[in-house]
Amino acid sequence: MIRERLHCELLLAMVMAMAMAMVEKTSSSLLLLLLFDLFLSICLFAKLDASVDADNAAVERFRSYLVIPSVHPNPNYAPAVEFLLSQAQDIGLDAQTFEFAENKPVLVLTWKGKNPLLPSVLLNSHMDVVPAEKEKWKHDPFAAVLDEKGDIYARGSQDMKCVGMQYLEAVRRLKAKGFKPLRTLHISFVPEEEVGGVNGAEKFVPSEEFKALNVAVVLDEGLASPNETYRVFNGERSPWWLVIRATGAPGHGSKLYDNSALENLIKSLDLISSYRASQFDLIKEGLAAEGEVVSVNPVFLKAGTPTPTGFVMNVQPSEAEAGFDIRLPPLADPVAFDKLIAEEWAPASRNLSFTFKQKVTVRNKKGLPCLTATDSSNPWWLLLKDSITKAGGSIGQPEIFLAATDARFVRDEGIPAFGFSPMANTPILLHDHNEFLNVREYLKGIDVYCEIIETFSSYGGPDDQSKTSSHTEL
Ligand SMILES: [Zn+2]
Repeated sequence: MIRERLHCELLLAMVMAMAMAMVEKTSSSLLLLLLFDLFLSICLFAKLDASVDADNAAVERFRSYLVIPSVHPNPNYAPAVEFLLSQAQDIGLDAQTFEFAENKPVLVLTWKGKNPLLPSVLLNSHMDVVPAEKEKWKHDPFAAVLDEKGDIYARGSQDMKCVGMQYLEAVRRLKAKGFKPLRTLHISFVPEEEVGGVNGAEKFVPSEEFKALNVAVVLDEGLASPNETYRVFNGERSPWWLVIRATGAPGHGSKLYDNSALENLIKSLDLISSYRASQFDLIKEGLAAEGEVVSVNPVFLKAGTPTPTGFVMNVQPSEAEAGFDIRLPPLADPVAFDKLIAEEWAPASRNLSFTFKQKVTVRNKKGLPCLTATDSSNPWWLLLKDSITKAGGSIGQPEIFLAATDARFVRDEGIPAFGFSPMANTPILLHDHNEFLNVREYLKGIDVYCEIIETFSSYGGPDDQSKTSSHTEL
């Protein structure tokens, strides 16, 4: 838009100047000046046109990736990998494909640095997307429709095919302008993030293949921001999916007696409810951000003796179960929390037992909180902030991601990782109907990654001398 207006304004200025020259029968030197002006303007038009063409081509490549249905429950990754390999070839990147589980490929593209001994920069994205209910969308979620406002509607437009393609577009531009990285840059495309990463990043990150990449820092997904300020995440909460099971003597529905299964389970629900309220109050009173508290939400209750039309109403059941989705922030004390569950929420003394459907570690392999430092101890944080600002973006305070991403596997190894998706002025629509991203934000994101990649891959120290210093974790 801005470029089109510039075109018009320049044309108008030229026409006016020539008209004035003719009216005033100007001297030949002024005419020469005008001809020079004309030449400059033509050059500028050509440059602007080339830039518009490049932007349009970038948007088309993004849309080509979006229409590939790498969607759960049965994502076929082969077409996505094939497309990305063709991009890598076009840009001039080396490619390796690994398979840690059958038909779940991990693609790693590499731009070798001038000093390949320096630890590398890794930009990660996942290829898979969550299902979409087509009939509830304005447009087909796998048609990547670009509307008149410049919004591209597609599953994965925010989460996170945008980011994967922005990495590639930024590298394409940097290569075109002749930039050469000092550090090696890797771009990974992983499967299965949307189903917990078990057959994706969880196997890839601890592997020898990953170790061989010698990674110093990782960028992975963040979230859209409805305002001007980009969001950045330096940690995430660990899911503990708890199931509490109660047993007790069955009895007649009319009888009052102690220790029935449901009575014992309800006592637990009361305690858990109070704990939940205490955490929620911290948010309501503005004392903590949502990512900084423990969230506990009941997700199922199972009890009663079923009949074809409902439940038996005069029998107190001998078993009952409740399930909870608990999320622990990186600074929570996992030992104290285990104790709370065992001694207060589900004690054997009340005929309760418990299991975890999932229990993601709160501490990394070094026993420290899975949190990437965001102070002067971590040069990557300073470089990230600077490069986003340099690209004309503003960045908010680091946050804890409410849910889980593949970055947790990286932080678990003690490697710094930031969750960052450059989508400002955009409603958060990941996993929602009508997920979209505006072309303007998409293109701005490419500029941001150009700065980040240039800055990160040009950084020579301090791990130039000491390989451990850039791995500082809080
Ligand atoms: Zn995602």
